[in-house]
Amino acid sequence: MKIFVVNCGSSSLKYQLINMVDESVLAKGLVERIGIDGSTLKHVPTGKESVTLNEVIANHSVGIKMVLDILTDSNHGVIESLEEIAAIGHRVVHGGEKFSDSVLIGLDVLKNIELCSVMAPLHNPANLLGIEACEKLMPSTPQVAVFDTAFHQTMPKQAYLYGLPYELYEKYALRRYGFHGTSHKYVAQRAADIMDEHMTNLRIITCHLGNGASIAAVKYGKCIDTSMGYTPLEGLVMGTRSGEIDPAIIPFLMEKEKLNAKEIDEYLNKKSGILGITGLSSDFRDVEQAAEEGNERAQLAIDIFAYKVKKYIGGYVAAMGGVDAIVFTAGLGENSAFMRDKICNGLEYLGTRIDKERNMVRGKEQEISVKRAPVKIFVIPTNEELVIARDTANVCKELIKF
Ligand code: AMP
Repeated sequence: MKIFVVNCGSSSLKYQLINMVDESVLAKGLVERIGIDGSTLKHVPTGKESVTLNEVIANHSVGIKMVLDILTDSNHGVIESLEEIAAIGHRVVHGGEKFSDSVLIGLDVLKNIELCSVMAPLHNPANLLGIEACEKLMPSTPQVAVFDTAFHQTMPKQAYLYGLPYELYEKYALRRYGFHGTSHKYVAQRAADIMDEHMTNLRIITCHLGNGASIAAVKYGKCIDTSMGYTPLEGLVMGTRSGEIDPAIIPFLMEKEKLNAKEIDEYLNKKSGILGITGLSSDFRDVEQAAEEGNERAQLAIDIFAYKVKKYIGGYVAAMGGVDAIVFTAGLGENSAFMRDKICNGLEYLGTRIDKERNMVRGKEQEISVKRAPVKIFVIPTNEELVIARDTANVCKELIKF
């Protein structure tokens, strides 16, 4: 059975075709600059040469059509016909309180994804465009929505409610949701597999540290808290996002800097975080390099980031009454031995001890704590596409023949 995984952004589209027999990737690729000059499709078929097409891609429908054409192309393709695709799995960013699991897409689901767009105005409409395009091109193929927020729906009220008038929660569903759920779910499950234990016996802290960054506390298989909130702006200091700040700063800045609501949102989402502190870059590779060369603000940004992550880990150990494993994933978490070392330095009282040599790993699954340490530390490359494909296969198992 083959599953087509689609992740649509406002002007981009990532895809993978996965063979569920052995969970191997048959092809993957990226369409960029949809609706903008200079659109491209980069297609990477496994075992064949990659190909880049530069063509006008006016909308998501055209993009998906190009992808389906190249997947079945006699030179660059990996399947003979679209009939081989048993189902399509879509990443959908916000599922609100409506979706605590992946679902088969029908009219009702589409309506609810649209209703959730108020909470993710940049993401959900783009996800819907991808769904509609696939529906048009492959109307008889089942489609499944896999939500970034779903894994966190097990959070208890004490973790997800803000200190705001309760009526606002009732009126607007204003609460914490959390994001990167498929990533947290995947790496927590992998850590349990590596430890040869059931998730239901473990307390795991998962640190998804990329350009966007979040941490989750996964207690006995269920997420009980996570650092992002109503939007992906809350929590850690990120590449360009401020993370948590005193909310009183917002009206203060709006008044002093003469910013309207849209502008302050942009300030906090695009000009803050590591970029804002350093004035240099949002990319930790540049920042680590600058710090090495003696740039004090680069060093400060690194110190702030690591300190925040450490505080969240400490907080989640308290929330779970202990910890059995800490997992690092995403761009920074998978690649920066320096940052992992800095975060773990001082956490030894928890029973964690990082092994400096094992920690030198980059982008590869590995335990990086010393042997027999009571609390394990892992680097686990995330694989959100595989979670989407697995969920899609699972949701459709009654509908499709294996
Ligand atoms: P992601 O959002 O998961 O793609 O992660 C992207 C971020 O990972 C980049 O902005 C970098 O800050 C960080 N990153 C990737 N590779 C490295 C590396 N080798 N060292 C430090 N940071 C890295």
